[in-house]
Amino acid sequence: ASVQSRMGRPSTVALGEAAFGPGQFTVIAGPCSVDNHDQLMEVGHAVRDAGGHALRGGAFKPRSSPYAFQGLGRRGLELLAEARRVTGLPIVTEVLDVRDLPAMLPCVDMLQVGARNMQNFALLRELGTLRTPVLLKRGLAASIDETLMAAEYILDGGNTDVVICERGIRTFETGYRFTLDIGAVPVFKERSHLPIIVDPSHAAGETARVIPLALAAAACGADGIIVETHSDPAAALCDGKQALPTSRLPELIDGVVNVARVA
Ligand code: PEP
Ligand code: MN
Repeated sequence: ASVQSRMGRPSTVALGEAAFGPGQFTVIAGPCSVDNHDQLMEVGHAVRDAGGHALRGGAFKPRSSPYAFQGLGRRGLELLAEARRVTGLPIVTEVLDVRDLPAMLPCVDMLQVGARNMQNFALLRELGTLRTPVLLKRGLAASIDETLMAAEYILDGGNTDVVICERGIRTFETGYRFTLDIGAVPVFKERSHLPIIVDPSHAAGETARVIPLALAAAACGADGIIVETHSDPAAALCDGKQALPTSRLPELIDGVVNVARVA
């Protein structure tokens, strides 16, 4: 299997009862990190009630500083499994280390490869041996073709369920956290059959910018979004500044679904 265009036929990647692919716009939402039990259950119910398709939340966090909150680890996985049980939503969470996979697989429906690990080829090869869908985030300084070649590592191992995520790249601009390369979305679609979603949160860096970027993603043909949301952003242990309050999820989801319908 190859990431290159299958004569213009886009592929579909299933996730629980939802899927990424033609004719649908799929919303993954949840906190940056699993902070504690009540937070995750509250956010999980809000995501489900607003019509979200999957719940995200990091148990293993790739923080710039080794002294910053690193995630709850194994305890976070248990909470994600409980959130899946009580909400019925599939779980998306980041894998940092192949040694965590045996503990992760029973709790997780889609494995996220973070931007900082996009070219961790040993990790990509390992994910290629699995049949769990992979969400591959574009690296901070990775070209479109380098991103597709990273996806190719996973497909080459036999796992064809890969979804690409544009999450913003490093440029000279300092007015926001990362430059959302919205122009990359149609190029990924030209060069590959894989579904492509957008993460507006890490590019925005601030809550007020999240919905506008999400609408842009829907307008330019993305297959979905992954967005950070929190029931109490000020109390978030990670990325609270860019968290959309869960009370605004209906506005976000109604907006992107409407834009995607006319795009
Ligand atoms: C995240 O999704 O919380 C995250 C760390 O994303 P990225 O790898 O894109 O920075
Ligand atoms: Mn985050």
